[in-house]
Amino acid sequence: MTNQNLLAIAKEYGSPIYVYDAAKIESQYNRLTGAFKKVKELRINYAVKALSNMAILQLIHGFGAGLDTVSIQEVRLGLAAGVDPSKIMFTPNGVSLNELEEVAKMGVQINIDNLSILEQFGTKHPKTPVCIRINPHVMAGGNSNISVGHIDSKFGISIHQIPHLLRIVENTKMNINGIHMHTGSDILDIDVFLHAAEILFDTAKDFKDLEFLDFGSGFKVPYKPGDIETDIEELGDKLSTRFNEFAKAYGKPLTLVFEPGKFLVSEAGKFLVNVNVIKQTTSTVFAQVDSGFNHLIRPMLYGSQHEIHNISNPLGRERFYSVVGYICETDTFATNRRIPEIAEDDILAFSNAGAYCYSMASNYNSRYRPAEVLFMDGEAHLIRERETFEDLLKHQIPLKQIENA
Ligand SMILES: *Cc1c(COP(=O)(O)O)cnc(C)c1O
Repeated sequence: MTNQNLLAIAKEYGSPIYVYDAAKIESQYNRLTGAFKKVKELRINYAVKALSNMAILQLIHGFGAGLDTVSIQEVRLGLAAGVDPSKIMFTPNGVSLNELEEVAKMGVQINIDNLSILEQFGTKHPKTPVCIRINPHVMAGGNSNISVGHIDSKFGISIHQIPHLLRIVENTKMNINGIHMHTGSDILDIDVFLHAAEILFDTAKDFKDLEFLDFGSGFKVPYKPGDIETDIEELGDKLSTRFNEFAKAYGKPLTLVFEPGKFLVSEAGKFLVNVNVIKQTTSTVFAQVDSGFNHLIRPMLYGSQHEIHNISNPLGRERFYSVVGYICETDTFATNRRIPEIAEDDILAFSNAGAYCYSMASNYNSRYRPAEVLFMDGEAHLIRERETFEDLLKHQIPLKQIENA
């Protein structure tokens, strides 16, 4: 995807707009499956919450992936995208028994992460296969908001509660067919991840009817040249060996499952915005763009640093800018960034805009959520229209209608 491609897309469909590069998603998928080629049964379930546009689900499903979902709505999106329920996994946190039952009825593999619901579900539906999510309490996280393995985390069943868990399984005679962990984002130290994997193996040997082991995700991707990222190839090499050893000792074929979101789509996404105003203050030059944290909240929420390129003037002389939005509240995308000289109406492109960007967008300030484009085989395809004023009004009930009722 060249700057010329992106400029043409901004011109045709307007800004702000998200653009996704199909070739990059495919190469990431192939990199991951390539790293684990020693494992006979490998399954990649794409984490829908990262970027849930149906066309993206269909694209990734087309490569051979299933889906990992965290709400019944995501399950239904997957089904609407044409994915078979047997290829969908439901890994929620804190949802009602009712929602779990409804999803299980659709033929989707469910994953339970607390003892209370496990006991209730197992008592009512002992025959339905259930995966359990354990928490190995291994810290693999970067930002504490996205680190889910620690002792105070709300995710998973603590490994210290395994005896209680086993008692529930024994008493209900329920069918446990998978063990799962997801230690959170940003695996940098492969040995730490492998340590968590050993805890999962150790837990798994107490269950006799397993079909798969799910190692979650949390692969770190680079945000700028030279950034440290998860060494997928090294992880693949080491974990594959250990997994194959374990499966052999277990005595029954096992599938290795991963559920990446960010790894597949983060780098494939660009977010294009138009510069409305260049505002020089006594201390700073602001580039104010036609977007804000309503469209891209990660810098404000997690302090994430998205690279920003001036694709209208890529070879311009570099100057320092603070790039901010147009929301009436502080919405800083970047402070004191060196960016090629920006003029009003230039188009800026944010990198790593594929994961947790559009999917976290809102209508704050009553702005429309952006359009989305998939760039595939050299062509741009609109995969979501920009919202309109009708969308803002859609579910609202005016006072007049109440008074007349
Ligand atoms: C969010 C999530 C993922 C995806 O995490 P990434 O860091 O985007 O790869 C995987 N599994 C579960 C259970 C999740 O909640």
